[in-house]
Amino acid sequence: MFQPSLLSRSEESPMNYSNPSYELACTECGKRFGNQPLSACPDCVAPLEVVYDLLSAKGVFTRDSIARGPASIWRYARMLPVPEGFQPDLPVGFTPLVHASRLGKRFGAASLYVKNDAVCFPTLSFKDRVVAVALANAQKFGFDTVGCSSTGNLANSVAAQAARLGLKACILVPADLEPAKILNTLVYGARLIRINGNYDAVNRLSMQIAGEYNWGFVNVNLRPYYSEGSKTVGYEIAEQLGWRLPDNVVVPMAGGSLIRKIRKAFQELIFLGLVKKPAQPVRFFGAQATGCSPISVAVKDGVDDIMPQKPNTIARSLAIGNPADGAAAAKMILEDGGWAEDVSDVEIVSGIQEMAETEGIFTETAGGVTTAVTARLYAEGRIAPGETTVVCITGNGLKTTDALAGRFDHLDTCAIRPRLADFDALLRSLDAEPELVAAN
Ligand SMILES: *Cc1c(COP(=O)(O)O)cnc(C)c1O
Ligand SMILES: [Zn+2]
Repeated sequence: MFQPSLLSRSEESPMNYSNPSYELACTECGKRFGNQPLSACPDCVAPLEVVYDLLSAKGVFTRDSIARGPASIWRYARMLPVPEGFQPDLPVGFTPLVHASRLGKRFGAASLYVKNDAVCFPTLSFKDRVVAVALANAQKFGFDTVGCSSTGNLANSVAAQAARLGLKACILVPADLEPAKILNTLVYGARLIRINGNYDAVNRLSMQIAGEYNWGFVNVNLRPYYSEGSKTVGYEIAEQLGWRLPDNVVVPMAGGSLIRKIRKAFQELIFLGLVKKPAQPVRFFGAQATGCSPISVAVKDGVDDIMPQKPNTIARSLAIGNPADGAAAAKMILEDGGWAEDVSDVEIVSGIQEMAETEGIFTETAGGVTTAVTARLYAEGRIAPGETTVVCITGNGLKTTDALAGRFDHLDTCAIRPRLADFDALLRSLDAEPELVAAN
């Protein structure tokens, strides 16, 4: 049931959730396109991006006005592409930023934070942010059916939020997706189409479908609006650090959109005077799986053209071999003095466990990637121990339990009778084999 109290802290000063000043512009030639479901410039085929009248937001988008807003991404509505008359429905985002002292100790880091989108509302990944913004526009454009091509989390979020808004959903995924992510899509009543092919093939097909059928595909014809939703991760990090920017951010990369938009958020906050411009630019560290690492390979080669790969990794949510924003992501990482790394499937599983054992946060394979990459960045001295570093955990471990299959079988002891003597005996036998307990 809709609960206004979740969205609005103060009944007396209702927020205006629409934004009077945004439109699409070509990232290449700068031509403006107003607002419509369109993702590329017809002239130069370059991607479109939402641009704002930043000057008119000065003095309006302030620390105070934000603090008066709801505890969700909608507190930043003035800097999001939300249409006239939009009334937010779901309290998406505003996830915890936690000081990770125990994980930090392992890395020798004093000021390490985890931005925990494993608990994002409503479907436990950062994709809830982008979908919320995309569907606000889908409704305005009058689509009755929405969809996406997805590596899993996007499917879950589109299905759930479409159900909530009474929209039909048609979702395309690679056929070999994790069972939990398939179930997490079907349960909302969405139509799920499994495609024999990898994400890149699925995405090409959904481009054709979006053109053929008059549907709003959140990451195709609504992509410019969708990707702006990722900025809220950056706004939240700055606000939760007490309106200051970190020195470093570690971000998992699939299409390369999230990492770019966190940077865009920081730049907007500097321009609008909400945070002080740091002496050194914030450095961005991209994280990928070695089995699908087109962006990290480019960064390591010091170039910004992307050599597409055929993905082969357990980190399916990051398995985009030909990333739409890959070149731009590599470029910005290099410009600001950051770096990118990639880790093996074995390291991914260790990363999942390390985050869980130290911080009590159970993340999915993408979070295992990010954690393992962070470990390596400290080990190689690319991040200094005293710097403030935020690690973005973007998805929930309950969706990828198959990645840990068999991992704890040896710890799964026989059930005992409900007797103290049995318990004593079991404990003694476990203590006699400590190497099994400590093995992982
Ligand atoms: C989609 C996704 C990402 C990466 O997002 P991009 O913006 O495509 O780079 C990271 N983590 C998880 C869990 C995701 O589902
Ligand atoms: Zn153009």
